[in-house]
Amino acid sequence: MKNKGVLIVISGFAGSGKGTITKELLNRYDNYRLSVSATTRNPRPQEVDGKDYFFVTREEFEEMIAKEELLEYTEYVGNYYGTPKKYVEQMLSEGKDVILEIEYIGAFNAKKAFPEAVLIFITPPSVKEVYNRLKGRNTESEDVIIKRIKRGQEEAEIIDKYDYVIVNDDVETAILDIHNTIQCSKCSSVRNGDFVNKLKNEFDEFLKNY
Ligand code: 5GP
Repeated sequence: MKNKGVLIVISGFAGSGKGTITKELLNRYDNYRLSVSATTRNPRPQEVDGKDYFFVTREEFEEMIAKEELLEYTEYVGNYYGTPKKYVEQMLSEGKDVILEIEYIGAFNAKKAFPEAVLIFITPPSVKEVYNRLKGRNTESEDVIIKRIKRGQEEAEIIDKYDYVIVNDDVETAILDIHNTIQCSKCSSVRNGDFVNKLKNEFDEFLKNY
C-alpha cells in the first residue's frame, strides 16, 4: 500500500520569503505539489488563471462552498480565498506532498479537516528585517508597509498554534530546514498508526502457536 502524502500548510509574514521558498521546494524536489487556490479577487498583472489562482466570481465561489468543493476557505480583505478539495485529495492519495500557501484562518481550518497536516510558519529573523524587506521591494508606500507590519503583529499572536516555526535568515538554510521538517514528520507516530497496527497483528499471528 502506498503511503499517503503529507499535507503541508505554509504561512508567514509579508516579507517572510515564503513564496520564494515554496517555489524552490517545487523546483528542487519532485514529490511536492502546489495547490492552486480559488479567489474572487482580480488578477494582478502577470498572474495567470489556473496557475497562480483560479479567478472566479463571487457567485461561482459561493457555489463551490455550497457543493462542499473546498477544503477550507476564508474571506480576506474583502475577497474569498479557498482551497479546492479534489486536487489535494487526489495528490495525497498518490503519495505526493501537497503545499497550501495560505493565511492562518485557512491554516487552522485545514488542520481541522486534516489533523495530520503539518503547519509551518515562516518568519524573517526580526521585525526590522520585515520592514527592510518590504521597503526593499519598492512596491508599497510607507503607509501600506506599516499596515502589513500591524497585521504581522496580529499574526505573531498565533504562531504558537503552528507545528513548526522556520526562521528565514538565510534562504538556503530555510529551504533545507523546511524540507527536513517535512521528511521528519513522515516518521511521526500518528502518521504510522496503520503500520503499528499491522505489526501488532503480526505479533499476535506469530505467537498464536507458542
Ligand atoms: P494575495 O491576494 O496577496 O495573493 O493573498 C492574500 C492572502 O490570502 C495571503 O496571505 C495568501 O496566503 C492567502 N491565501 C491564498 N490562497 C488562499 C486559500 O486558498 N485559502 C486561504 N485561507 N488563504 C489563502
